[in-house]
Amino acid sequence: PNVSAAKPHYVITTDATYPPFDFQDKNNQYTGIDQEILKTIAKRQGFTYTLKPMSFNSATQSVSSGQADGVIAGMSITDERKEVFDFGTPYYRSGIGWAVKKGSDVKSLKDLKGKTVALKTGTSGADYALSVQKKYGFKVTYFNDSDTLYNDVINGNTQATFGDLPVIQYAVKNGTQLKVMNAKSPIEAGWYGFGVKKGNNAKLLTAFNKGFADIKADGTYDKIVAKYLGSSA
Ligand code: GLN
Repeated sequence: PNVSAAKPHYVITTDATYPPFDFQDKNNQYTGIDQEILKTIAKRQGFTYTLKPMSFNSATQSVSSGQADGVIAGMSITDERKEVFDFGTPYYRSGIGWAVKKGSDVKSLKDLKGKTVALKTGTSGADYALSVQKKYGFKVTYFNDSDTLYNDVINGNTQATFGDLPVIQYAVKNGTQLKVMNAKSPIEAGWYGFGVKKGNNAKLLTAFNKGFADIKADGTYDKIVAKYLGSSA
């Protein structure tokens, strides 16, 4: 008998470019902390999935509109999103950072007056920036993916960005010519979660949570995180 035919199959979306959580390795295979967590959990819990990488904004909207079953994309659990999504066990503590081009004369948020800040569409970093936009008097412009956004700041078209601190720090560590301005004090620290449409896919969420408890308990989770961020993370 074909036992695999009985396995539930899901469509899972992700952010196409979000290292160290979601990105392509040199063989164009998706990898990263999120992807290793998902793959391990699926294997142990006996489900299969088709991964659909896209912009973060599309990844979340595909799930809220019912076109996909779940999203794992360094997605922050927020009260606003809890109205639309059910989240699995929080799996990684993050927070918002802001960054400028290396060598920039911007030293504090006050220096952003009249300048333009690059934001990623549909993210908590963008929401935060908008909440302080009036106070600091900057303009904003939007990007769908982190790489294009970083390049825009590096090229000097825009003068700063707000986004997930561990993600910007990872980019800087890997040569991106940005400077993180609040490395030791993340703004609005919070957690990443696996999301499904609210009230839908309870079975997938339960499997994720069971599998997550399992990889936390046996050290697999810690190994995955350490592989990308070092054991002190
Ligand atoms: N953590 C941020 C959010 O949930 C950004 C996620 C991302 O860009 N992949 O909005």
